[in-house]
Amino acid sequence: MAEQRVPLTPNNFHVWFNYWLAEPPALKRAIDIVIGNKRKFDAATNHGLYANYIGSKAADETVAYDVSQQLHSLMGSAKQFLSTAIADNRSQMAAINDVAQQGDADVDPKVLVRSLMDELAKATARATRLEADFMEKQRELDTIRDSLAKSEERAKTDTLTGLPNRRALDEFLRKTQIAAMEWGEPFSILLIDIDHFKRFNDEFGHSTGDQVLRLMAKVLRERLRDVDLPARYGGEELMVVLPGANLAAASAVAERIRRSVCEGHIIRRSTGEPLPGIAVSIGVAQFRDGEPIAELIERCDRALYVAKKGGRNRVIAETELEAAAS
Ligand code: GH3
Ligand code: MG
Ligand code: MG
Repeated sequence: MAEQRVPLTPNNFHVWFNYWLAEPPALKRAIDIVIGNKRKFDAATNHGLYANYIGSKAADETVAYDVSQQLHSLMGSAKQFLSTAIADNRSQMAAINDVAQQGDADVDPKVLVRSLMDELAKATARATRLEADFMEKQRELDTIRDSLAKSEERAKTDTLTGLPNRRALDEFLRKTQIAAMEWGEPFSILLIDIDHFKRFNDEFGHSTGDQVLRLMAKVLRERLRDVDLPARYGGEELMVVLPGANLAAASAVAERIRRSVCEGHIIRRSTGEPLPGIAVSIGVAQFRDGEPIAELIERCDRALYVAKKGGRNRVIAETELEAAAS
């Protein structure tokens, strides 16, 4: 960003962070073209990149705008502090110099010391005030940092389930893939799809369906380790990333999740009536060294498809794909 003289605003950071991730690839291409053509990253270009490739909810934009306003005012205050401190310093030196010069004349040393002490006391008071102001600004900076962190958190969270969203999932998958290749450790994924969910929605209403999705999120959070990542993959599809787990371990986790969903009792919140049980089908696949994440997901998706075809409410691991095919 410095090289291209792009102003360091939250939105521009967002654009350039995604450039670094090459996500979406079209954003990377667009920026590479601007660089290749030696065009400037002026305000219109920066705004266009953000609007076209990142987009944002109104709330996030407001936060970004507020933050950039706050940062601006904070920079202004910092400058003012500096000039006040410098001016103060000069006048203190001059005052002390004045007193010292009286020492040349025939002045009572006691009076001289008292004047010096007075000047020093004034200087200390001013410095203390300045320090207090500065601490106050530091607190403001903490608030800004906090709201940026919250906005980042929001951008990675699915609003319905509170689970990490697709963006957070993609990032986690990439990190896990790199770590797995670096350390030679396995990792696996689960793709979970609710059985006959359309029918459930039709019968009991979309908002009861939403309640089921939230319940699923709760089951996942309770059943997984801290290092695992459950995420909302799409509409009613959830994905779990299990770092360190081979296919057998991941299948065991999937089976526990399936059973726990199956054994759960759902009560319709609005009426208190018990609803028929929910079941899920789960596909399981293990990462193969060096493969693109898309291939891993595709195998997992095929396993899920076999689980559906086989009658639903079951776990199918990718090794069962060939068996199913034959
Ligand atoms: P299958 O067993 O083959 O998976 O059957 P299905 O009915 O679940 O089929 P499919 O997975 O194709 O259907 C997805 C349905 O999930 C469609 C839509 O009504 C529902 N759905 C997707 N997202 C949401 C959501 O956010 N809330 C609710 N309530 N329903 C959703
Ligand atoms: Mg589905
Ligand atoms: Mg479904």
